[in-house]
Amino acid sequence: MTAYYIEVLDSLKLVDIYVECARSASKSGSSDIQLVGTTELRISSGSVISLPVTVSPRAAARSSFEDSDSGPDANSWIRIRVPIALDCMKARLEQASQLITSIEKPITASAIQGLSDIACQSCSSSLLANTTGAADRDTLRIRDLPSAFWSELVDCWVCHPEKDTVNVNADLLHAFEPKVAVTTDSTQDSTRKPEPSTETKLSVDMWVGDTYVLATEDLFKDLPKTPVHMDTKVLSIVVYVAYANMNTYSVASLIGRFYSSYTELCCDSCSNVVGEVGRMGSREMAKLCLSRVQFVLPSPSRSAISVSLSQAVSREILSHVGAHAVYRFVIEGRKACQPVALINIVGWNAEIRARAMSSTQPDNLPDISGRYIKILFTQKDSSTFDTQASQWLDDNATELISLLDADADSLLRILAENAQLLPPPLRGMANMTRSFLRM
Ligand SMILES: [Zn+2]
Repeated sequence: MTAYYIEVLDSLKLVDIYVECARSASKSGSSDIQLVGTTELRISSGSVISLPVTVSPRAAARSSFEDSDSGPDANSWIRIRVPIALDCMKARLEQASQLITSIEKPITASAIQGLSDIACQSCSSSLLANTTGAADRDTLRIRDLPSAFWSELVDCWVCHPEKDTVNVNADLLHAFEPKVAVTTDSTQDSTRKPEPSTETKLSVDMWVGDTYVLATEDLFKDLPKTPVHMDTKVLSIVVYVAYANMNTYSVASLIGRFYSSYTELCCDSCSNVVGEVGRMGSREMAKLCLSRVQFVLPSPSRSAISVSLSQAVSREILSHVGAHAVYRFVIEGRKACQPVALINIVGWNAEIRARAMSSTQPDNLPDISGRYIKILFTQKDSSTFDTQASQWLDDNATELISLLDADADSLLRILAENAQLLPPPLRGMANMTRSFLRM
């Protein structure tokens, strides 16, 4: 197995191809790493990988570099930097969305309309209440939420004196519910059970957000609920100070901390957390984490649509970047209320294809391939972490992302694993670790 890392640099109209090879081969120039035609790369005798784009091989530039930290026996890396072929470049510009706001959400309401079940992503057990019959399931009314930052965007659009605050009432959500006429025709659909108090019944059952789904709590009323106390002391004086400074981060995060507890919603079979329940305005709502549930489509396919933790976090980050042009993020555990990672976004929509080093990974590890956001990160184990975290949090241009504590740990593991896919000389930058997350 040969490790490689390929990244398409659309804005530079280049592809960077890094391949690991023996140091002796790199020094003597005798390595058999060669471009084959315009779409393939031979990385060792007999082993050929296809490139993500068509290239102009005649203009390829080759260089080699060594990892000085890894000792005399470490391998070298060869870099082949090659221009993307002109017609391929034109096609890519036409196809791929260049605007951050036009990058698609991982799941939309139309993709899961008519679903037959919502299940736990970990054990595939059904989460919907038993009383939600088959007929009810495929007629669940599902809509997209406009944007997680809708209220803030409204805040930006409305002209008002600076000291004004705009109160957004969660009850206003019904503004997005389409008006449905209540039918009283008893001859129609007589097999369905009569609906009590039709007038107060919501006409939308689920709203699909970027990283979560809001749903009426009734749908999940059979699931166990666990109250969780956050490891934080709420001091009203801190909140006043934050308000006085009008620091967007502090206000947003401290308002959340008026509440020192929340209620987790768990899977009945495996006890994994799948979301939270709480009041929104006058309603009891369930907020399901997209990366913890899956949507089962009806027969004949019965296929399940699910979003990975990487995709959910990427989406959350891209939403902030799109709404606020903020590139720095502090990741904290929901319960622990402590920063665990600092993330600096350096790019998105990067097309990457890579395979890990053979010595550290099992042979059957698949190549990774897809679109990623590129980041720099620091995690809690570094000595300067706490100081740096509080500096970031004092800055307006930082957003806080709160994940379930287990998900925050998983995210760190994913970032560390992905960093290992980079050639060693590329892994560090500005005292942070380079890595990437699948979009
Ligand atoms: Zn489960």
